Amino acid sequence: MPSTDLLAPGHRTCAGCGPAITIREILRAAGPDIIICEATGCMEVTTTPYPESSWKVPWIHVTFENAASVASGVKAALRSQGNNHTQVIALGGDGGMVDIGFGAVSGALERNEDIIIITYDNEAYANTGVQRSGATPYGAATTTSPSGSASAGKGEWKKNLPMIAAAHGCAYVATASPAFPADLSNKVKKAMSMKGARYLHILSPCPIGWQSDSSQTIQIAKAAVQSGTWVLYEIENGIFKRNFLQKTKPVKEYLAPQGRFRHLKEEQIAKIQEHVDRTWKELEILEKSGVNLLKIL
Ligand code: SF4
Ligand code: MG
Repeated sequence: MPSTDLLAPGHRTCAGCGPAITIREILRAAGPDIIICEATGCMEVTTTPYPESSWKVPWIHVTFENAASVASGVKAALRSQGNNHTQVIALGGDGGMVDIGFGAVSGALERNEDIIIITYDNEAYANTGVQRSGATPYGAATTTSPSGSASAGKGEWKKNLPMIAAAHGCAYVATASPAFPADLSNKVKKAMSMKGARYLHILSPCPIGWQSDSSQTIQIAKAAVQSGTWVLYEIENGIFKRNFLQKTKPVKEYLAPQGRFRHLKEEQIAKIQEHVDRTWKELEILEKSGVNLLKIL
């Protein structure tokens, strides 16, 4: 990994903030020849309290709705200036990309804009008080999907944005985790080397929303992958490939250190385990089939 850190220390994220680690890893891999268009979210609020900024690369704050649209416009401006080397990255949390800015993300993918879209997914609207998002997983307690006598956390499954992005037919889609920095770095570099719309989705634990100890962020991110809850994969020119092939931990071990799952009963944990096992098997079948998704979409 290059040692140059393009996100300066001294920003105001919470201790153990997963998205902050994720973004440092993204920037180290991407290098300085980039422009970031960032949606409103934790990593915008905490890194740019006026008049300060932690970003050592060109960076623009846009609304929740339009990071991918602004990135498309910035890329068009660079093109008109004859600049064909600077990569434009639309960056946002799950609130910005999975929910509110989803239309702009979908539009940019469908137009095959020459940009990289990255979601740092902490599975809730963390900077406004941990409300449920489309990316919040089944069973997780948030302030708008609380646990109690009338509710046992979120009742729906997590929206699968990487696969939705793949369904647009773009050349490169990948999932990643800050607990696997070499894998994350390779995926950013590969995306940087390609043209057209590219999409990365990175699961990034948030100690506040996940009600976990700030020292446990990387262990929890690792357990998400080791339990098969978060599958690391790439879809390159339509071919699906997993990057971490063992499922070595029960889901219970991933859920246990997170207070947002504390209320879950055994039958809910079993339901999540069954969902994870089934998804793992289906992805295994997809990988072994060698089918080119671009040809069947
Ligand atoms: Fe990071 Fe979560 Fe704190 Fe936001 S609320 S700065 S995502 S730890
Ligand atoms: Mg979020």
